[in-house]
Amino acid sequence: MIIRKKFGFEGAHIVRDCSSDRCRHSIHGHSYIVEVFFTSNGLDNGGMVMDFGLMKGPIKNFIDSFDHAYSLWNKEEQEFKEFMKKQSERWVEMPVSPSAEMYSLMFFFVIDKIISQTVFNNGEKQVRLRSVRVHETASGYAESFAEDLTYWNFTLGDIIFSDKVVSEWKDSQMYEKLKRGDFFINPKVELKYHQDEHDNH
Ligand SMILES: [Zn+2]
Repeated sequence: MIIRKKFGFEGAHIVRDCSSDRCRHSIHGHSYIVEVFFTSNGLDNGGMVMDFGLMKGPIKNFIDSFDHAYSLWNKEEQEFKEFMKKQSERWVEMPVSPSAEMYSLMFFFVIDKIISQTVFNNGEKQVRLRSVRVHETASGYAESFAEDLTYWNFTLGDIIFSDKVVSEWKDSQMYEKLKRGDFFINPKVELKYHQDEHDNH
């Protein structure tokens, strides 16, 4: 079974070296839609792969980092980087060019880490991130799966968030916790109705 949660952000970028003239030379924006797909080996105590409400923490905050923000490729000229950081409060510096493909890959990398560092407390059965789909326009999207992580060797430290972005997270320590390998503990649920699990025959 697959579940999907939809997020979005209004993001600005330049995609250097792409074929479209306007895209590679000029700052512009898109209303991005991000679809995050999860799967598991069974359902939790609530009959779910994973409660949608649990995605409102680090996952939502991470994606929201890119909202009303400039996505700054770290290969940009120093002068440009310094100007953007000085003149615009919300920015994210990233190790890859901000194409839909690279966003989906980078989001997969980070959300996968968040899930692997989450302690599920309601009988969830090996929740896994299946894919991340990033729609740049109403007609075009890129989707990344685990096997696509071979495209780029991401590390968490290569993604840098401006102070303003960090200050607007629900937990300003969220990304530091992720880098340290700390766990995100989901709340325990007091069960009123136990759903009997079927034994495997
Ligand atoms: Zn664009």
